[in-house]
Amino acid sequence: MQSWRQRLASVLEWSITDKSILLMGLVAPILVGYALFTQYLLGRPDVTRLAHVGPLLELRQILLAFIAGTGVIALSGLVIRRRNPHCLPLQYVATLYYAGILVTSSYYVGTMTFCTGVVALGAPVFGFILLERQVIWAATVPALTALAGLGYATAYGWLPYAPIVAPPQDATANLFWMNAIYLLTAPHLLVILLLADQTLCRWRVREDLVRTLSLTDPLTGIANRRHVLDLLEKEVARTVRHGPPLAVAVLDLDHFKRINDTWGHPAGDAVLQAAARELGACVRRNDTVGRFGGEEFMLLLPDTPLEGAKALAERCRARLEALDIRAENGERIPLTGSFGLVSNEQDLSAEAEALVKAADAALYRAKAGGRNRVEAVALPPAG
Ligand code: GH3
Ligand code: MG
Ligand code: MG
Repeated sequence: MQSWRQRLASVLEWSITDKSILLMGLVAPILVGYALFTQYLLGRPDVTRLAHVGPLLELRQILLAFIAGTGVIALSGLVIRRRNPHCLPLQYVATLYYAGILVTSSYYVGTMTFCTGVVALGAPVFGFILLERQVIWAATVPALTALAGLGYATAYGWLPYAPIVAPPQDATANLFWMNAIYLLTAPHLLVILLLADQTLCRWRVREDLVRTLSLTDPLTGIANRRHVLDLLEKEVARTVRHGPPLAVAVLDLDHFKRINDTWGHPAGDAVLQAAARELGACVRRNDTVGRFGGEEFMLLLPDTPLEGAKALAERCRARLEALDIRAENGERIPLTGSFGLVSNEQDLSAEAEALVKAADAALYRAKAGGRNRVEAVALPPAG
């Protein structure tokens, strides 16, 4: 079962034609509600005290015609949706039609009401989220112009203001119209709020995803070079002067080219994934393992003096060596790694770059010394 959020999210992915049908599907019940409202008002014994019957009858006829129109547009959409899922003209027709309905209804209940305000702002927002931009501009500009024109026409006395509303004589009539305006606004407000909420949720989820992707190495799922260097800068900034010390290890897998050459690149990829997993399992919760480059990893070990870091790196080295990775033909792929280790315990003010350089130098020594080993250096005390 899809949650309502997922269903709403999928609406945003609908085709242009389906969205136009949806718009008519949303408008139709609102229009039916409005028509029922006029019917209810006409049926009240005190209708003449609340409303002007002539314009009210006229509005009812207009609403019925609008309902028929939405049916025709929706049906046209249903007929063409398979053949033409991206029918932009249909969206223009549906949206301009919707704008026409809103302007007409606003005129009858008053262009200066809460309802008109909500719809005048909400409908374009709703439209920009759900429909095509150019269509919304094409509908919004004439609709707002028409609303302003109607407003001025009523202000100059050329047209009656809110023709269906009889000037309220008492508090009951006032209350009736206030309730009515809220009721007429409610469906628009509900749809606009739900859609805006859903869009913002989706935006946040995507933003999180983009952030995660930009920090993650796609092959191994661990921190990428950018992220691990970022964290290193932060850790260094944290330890400057006050400590506790930070240890950094650079690890390079031994003779990795040979693994690729012997068992193929996909096997090499699988080895990198297994190595990343194993290193992640080997370090502590506060430590970070990142992929620094091709077959090179970096371990950030906060709050770790050199002796403790050595023990941890030695443990990682032994676990890599013990990994039982099998090639497709069943052969075991031997894996070892060389570690270059450094700690800033002698010089808490050392820069990140100096730490990486020193760890690299230690790694070079580990390689030169025969590989599959841990070499550690301590930064000389700050002069
Ligand atoms: P050394 O012990 O001196 O480090 O030797 P090496 O073979 O590991 O070092 P070298 O730098 O010569 O080769 C590294 C190899 O790692 C070459 C490159 O094709 C491979 N490599 C880098 N990134 C990837 C990757 O994402 N997947 C695979 N399968 N191989 C990779
Ligand atoms: Mg390398
Ligand atoms: Mg290597």
